[in-house]
Amino acid sequence: MSATRRQVLGWSALGGAAALVPGLAGCGLDSSRADSSSSPTAPPPSPSATGEATNAEALAALALWTAYQGEEAGSYGIGGVLVDNATGTVLQTMPNRVFRTLPSGKGSEASPSASGSTAPPATFVQDPTAHGERQLASWYLANRTRLGLPPADRLTVVTSLDPCLMCTGAILTAGFRAGVVALDDFSGVNYTGKGTFTDLPEPLRAQALDSFGYYRVDGVREFQGSPSIAYHESAVQQDTYQECSDVYSQSADRVRAARGTASVPPSKLTNPASDPESVNIRRAFEVVYPGAFDVSVRDGRRPTRAVYNALVALVASTPGSTNAVGFLDPFGNLIVAAADQPTVSPLNTAFALCTRAYAQTRYALTEREITAPVAAQTLTNPGYGTFVFLRAPDPFTPEVIFDYGAYGSTLASPASPFIPSAFQYYELPPGVSERELQDVVPALPPLYSQHLAMLPQRVVEAP
Ligand SMILES: [Zn+2]
Repeated sequence: MSATRRQVLGWSALGGAAALVPGLAGCGLDSSRADSSSSPTAPPPSPSATGEATNAEALAALALWTAYQGEEAGSYGIGGVLVDNATGTVLQTMPNRVFRTLPSGKGSEASPSASGSTAPPATFVQDPTAHGERQLASWYLANRTRLGLPPADRLTVVTSLDPCLMCTGAILTAGFRAGVVALDDFSGVNYTGKGTFTDLPEPLRAQALDSFGYYRVDGVREFQGSPSIAYHESAVQQDTYQECSDVYSQSADRVRAARGTASVPPSKLTNPASDPESVNIRRAFEVVYPGAFDVSVRDGRRPTRAVYNALVALVASTPGSTNAVGFLDPFGNLIVAAADQPTVSPLNTAFALCTRAYAQTRYALTEREITAPVAAQTLTNPGYGTFVFLRAPDPFTPEVIFDYGAYGSTLASPASPFIPSAFQYYELPPGVSERELQDVVPALPPLYSQHLAMLPQRVVEAP
């Protein structure tokens, strides 16, 4: 795909292209900029420069353009656009930022490939929750009051690819409408293409039916879903629809090829708690979680009462918190933990904050020349460790699909080990049975129900 074609698709489809482009440059699309995925307070685009869309094709083309920003920065080619249904005003755009290209050579196992060509630059997970739709929801929730943004049910997230479970949870939590271009039969909420949302727990199904729409694509499909989304009556061009699908597939292939040292098995690692050279590792995690490395359990799959007590202490010291999640590395070290922050954002769940803290700290250590070797020697894919919830997610709220989805995104990277006991909890939500919590899983899209075979397990405490 040539840059010219991208520009034509991304720019000319919008009536106010000249006005739109400066707005795009100012709203987080420059891949050289510092990441703002976890900074929902990033400066918004100037409303006068964001442009307005007048039909579904313009929005789909902008979502596609945004998807290319993600792909060019080394992540998945998926993009989202937040638009005001009444006016067509584009409020914000966000590309996928899960992966990021490392500075040349860092963290890379890259060697010349069999064909003799040089391997692509290594990419590395910097935030498994940095999907476009989730970032748009976080941005909206952080800025709606200050910027006087319209109510969420009058806004549509237009996304190049059907939202995953986490993003569906974020969209339903925020209360947005969702307009979808391409489908995803592996992890998309509408993976069957039938638009019935039978993969979601009952209370969420009705909300999704009311909120999600799939644009008509001439020669491909009729409109499907809720007419409450922006420009539901207009069509997306077949080329745009196909390219939204293609840019994602191509990026997924490239991410697989450029993954670097993301998933070294624990047998080849040294324990950062006892390795004298790991002082920088320990310090970095202590910055994000002061209790890092204070608790170690003999078997990383058997959390102890000490882990429970550390999580309870976190909840007690966090305003409004009712839950906490800790991450035990393969050596059984409680390396990071986080409490939920409901007073900051309903999307700041304990799990989202915990998995993000691990990934971002690991990325920062891998990116720096001085710490990259020891990071590669002591840290690995979180699938080799154990996430321990103080309280399991409530299976009757959007929280459950948000957290299950974020867990799927955490473990979905290529070569991740799939170990069911990597998701454990001490307590169930009030009035919820273990069966009700596990019953959510079999209906979920294939990534979660089959590929990862998620199985939240109650902690069997070590003696
Ligand atoms: Zn997503």
